[in-house]
Order: sequence, then structure tokens, then C-alpha cells
Amino acid sequence: MNILHWFRTHKFTDAEQLIIMYLVLIMLGVAVVGALGFFGNRPRHTARNACINQLRMIEGAKEQWGLEHHMEVVNTPTPEDLFGLSGYMKFTPTCPSSGSNYFIGTLGERPRCSVPGHSL
Ligand SMILES: [Zn+2]
Repeated sequence: MNILHWFRTHKFTDAEQLIIMYLVLIMLGVAVVGALGFFGNRPRHTARNACINQLRMIEGAKEQWGLEHHMEVVNTPTPEDLFGLSGYMKFTPTCPSSGSNYFIGTLGERPRCSVPGHSL
């Protein structure tokens, strides 16, 4: 006797039906919460990681600029110094989450993003 046959022929009581309904609802709830936890944060995390990668690239560009132009830690490169075809990054980077420009800062500072949690 297999379990499917037993399910089809067994007469469930109201209490049994209620328990089965609850179990199914609980399983659905767990599945939905699990899926949200798994997929829900993905876009935010990938945007954050992409932003941090860009901050690293900006920092690298600043270091290059500083070395090539014999600058000191108090000097501040402009966006024109770093970005563009004649700069160290071809395009002016913007945060993938907010679309805002980055704070470049002096050579002694780390570049920053205005979105909380987006930092080197
Ligand atoms: Zn950002």
C-alpha cells in the first residue's frame, strides 16, 4: 500500500484537515520568507559591491595621478584630472544605487559615496 493511495482513500477528520492546512500554510510561509531572504537583498548587495569596486578604482586613479604629477597627500585631484579619455578612468563613475557622483577628496582621504554602507 503506498502513501498516495492511503491519502486518496483515507477519510480525514476536520481536525486532521485543519492540521494539514496549517502545515501547508507554514511550509508556504517558510518558502516565501526563504525566497525573500535569498533574492530580496541581491540587487542591493550587488549595487553596493559595484559601488565599492568603483571607489577602489577611484582610489587607484588618485594614486596614479598623485605619482605622475608629484602631488602630496593634501592635494585634491578634480574630476577632470581623473576621468575622461585623457584621465585614468574613461568614464565619470556614479553610484549604481543613487546615481550620485563620488566625493573624491584629497590624496590622503579615501573617496566616498553618499549612500550609507558604501565605503572602502
Ligand atoms: Zn554608492
